[in-house]
Amino acid sequence: MRAWRAATCALVATVLLFACANRAGRVTVDLPLPTEDDLGRRAYAHVARIAELGPRHPGSKARERAADLIFARLRALDLTPIREAWFDEREKIRFENVRCRLRGNTNKCLLITTHYDTKLELPESRRDGNGPFVGVNDGGSGTGLLLALAEEFAAAGARRPTLELVWFDGEESIPAKWDLDRALYGSREFVRRHVQDGHTYGAMILLDMVGAKDLRIDREESSSKALYAPFEAAVKRLGYDEHFFQTTCDVDDDHIPFLDAGLPSIDLIQFDENPHWHRNSDTLEHVSPRSLGIVGRVVLTALPAIAERVLR
Ligand SMILES: [Zn+2]
Repeated sequence: MRAWRAATCALVATVLLFACANRAGRVTVDLPLPTEDDLGRRAYAHVARIAELGPRHPGSKARERAADLIFARLRALDLTPIREAWFDEREKIRFENVRCRLRGNTNKCLLITTHYDTKLELPESRRDGNGPFVGVNDGGSGTGLLLALAEEFAAAGARRPTLELVWFDGEESIPAKWDLDRALYGSREFVRRHVQDGHTYGAMILLDMVGAKDLRIDREESSSKALYAPFEAAVKRLGYDEHFFQTTCDVDDDHIPFLDAGLPSIDLIQFDENPHWHRNSDTLEHVSPRSLGIVGRVVLTALPAIAERVLR
């Protein structure tokens, strides 16, 4: 009798323990999916507002106004953005990132990032005399889409993963010709300040040049292979195969300092087929709301699987 009771107690305890462990291990990220039209239109409106500011290269007044705009938009969503500025002695430039943490239901935090600066000076070969370089796709598209995604995340409350959204300054290299040593200022500073402990963050997603009318997001080869599966599954589920991963590229971008710090990171970027890249023709007419909506929907659809894999 005693043996039977002890065995029953042990069984009940095991079942309870398993149930608790299962509950603790499960991550429920459940975000509503907006339509292409709804998400795309909102993202595009943000991009247009950023583009109106004109060239916003590091150290410029327009760069500061772009940070004001991002900050104000996040505050209007009742979020608590932080502006992080620092002075770079070599460049004699005051850089500034904008970051915003949103508590959700995962242990680790997912970084979703972009850059909002524009290139200071284009190489001679890429200047075509059509006005200033305003970086609508390059710097503007990711900025606008991340603001529209912030609206989604703010509305989702606890159904979202724990997130940090970051708008980097100083992605572009200061010299006209790409110089890795004089670029990626915002992402390097962020890693230096916040990504040292290895516990806070689970992964990083970078959005860069995600609004081209003819949308062709590359398979970026330095990105973490493990992060491709959730995105591939999302692309397939939404029927967006023609827009994703048909072309490849390998670029130095804001994900590199995070990869160097050991954090799984993926760069969603259109680099291979991008005729307006670093040309004055990178203007509003070559960016489409639908493309922004498509990329945003893919990110939202991939989130539950990313949470399961790397944010527990
Ligand atoms: Zn660029």
